[in-house]
Amino acid sequence: MSRGVSYITRMISPNHAVTTSNKAENGPHLRRCRFCGERLERTFVDLGMSPLCETYPSVDEINGPETFYPLHVYLCESCLLVQLEAYERPEDIFSNYAYFSSYSDSWLKHSETYCNKMIERLNLTDKSFVIEAASNDGYLLQYFAKNKIPVLGIEPAANIAKVAEEKGVPTLVRFLGASTAAELAADGRCADLVLGNNVLAQVPDLNDFVEGLKVLLKPGGVLTLEFPHILRLIENNEFDTIYHEHFSYFSMVTVVRVLEAHELKVFDVEELPTHGGSLRVFASLATNQTRKIEPSVQRLIESERSAGLDLPAGYADFAKRVQKTKFALVEFLLGAAQQGKQVAGYGAPGKSATLLHYCGIGKDLIQYTVDRNPYKQGRFLPGTHIPIYHPDRISESKPDFVVILPWNLKDEVMQQLQFIREWGGQFVIPIPQVTVC
Ligand SMILES: [Zn+2]
Repeated sequence: MSRGVSYITRMISPNHAVTTSNKAENGPHLRRCRFCGERLERTFVDLGMSPLCETYPSVDEINGPETFYPLHVYLCESCLLVQLEAYERPEDIFSNYAYFSSYSDSWLKHSETYCNKMIERLNLTDKSFVIEAASNDGYLLQYFAKNKIPVLGIEPAANIAKVAEEKGVPTLVRFLGASTAAELAADGRCADLVLGNNVLAQVPDLNDFVEGLKVLLKPGGVLTLEFPHILRLIENNEFDTIYHEHFSYFSMVTVVRVLEAHELKVFDVEELPTHGGSLRVFASLATNQTRKIEPSVQRLIESERSAGLDLPAGYADFAKRVQKTKFALVEFLLGAAQQGKQVAGYGAPGKSATLLHYCGIGKDLIQYTVDRNPYKQGRFLPGTHIPIYHPDRISESKPDFVVILPWNLKDEVMQQLQFIREWGGQFVIPIPQVTVC
């Protein structure tokens, strides 16, 4: 385990020169912002202790020890980046990751729509080149490849990269940072489109990663990044989207600041319904004069200002609302248990680890869960050891309630599981507030 082991973190000093500093030199209790290097002293929310959320122990492993880490989220009062400390080296988290993007139909649809839009907007052809950072199992690049557009995925998890290769998506098994990008650039492999979906939040070394994205862009190239929007996280109480693998939580204000520090210009932004409310930002090199900043950018910054997110005070009430959600969910599940009702879960997403640990929910309140991902079937949720079965288990055991753990996919899940109505089954959606329907 790497806890307490010092490793090199790169930070940006106030004058935006990239400097390198050793964490241990600052002392064990001195936390610093991963973007601007300021001291982190203000709590955003403290969700207690929980294990790494994408680690699913097998039956042979459940009698062994599990490491729990604090889910204590800080707000940098200087740059307003909401962030967790990284307790594990990314190699330990992501090298054998269990998250296969292709097991969600709606996520595939989302990705295909994005590809078609980008092909049109950027006039991508068989002469273009697209690079995706954290390309997972090729879930997205496959749609560019189908259109004969050359692609390259960069994915640190070898087990997942292998699946992408089998789909015909060339994949480099590496972490993307400035040095990997420089090697590719030296080989003449810069791209017309560089994209990163749900990866910006997951990089502990934020400045090194963003620098890498910049280096991979051709002079006229476009970068798109998708990440959960902290405005929605706060508004909708989406506290379970906070987990150890997500180190940073971005507002538009902060992301513009981070990209600007690396000489990138955000010229457009779209709001997306994915992951409870995400942003897709479009950026180019700051020197690219052909890209004019669209009104969407200022509009979004204004909406964050009116929600108070441009000042530390705007982040203050979140923790209290999170606690209220916990009390409501526990109250419902205790009531169901006392009436002898059978409660199952649906899904074993990363976010369920936060929800279940913070709320103190174990097998006594949710007897089992199911997941379509065969890798997870027969394994257990981390920490709580709630067993994960094949989805057929639901029709066999006929639970009274099914708690939809990936609540962001609730419409898709409810459609798939309509048959629970035959025995009077009901769905429980835990967030934004406990809803039984
Ligand atoms: Zn900061």
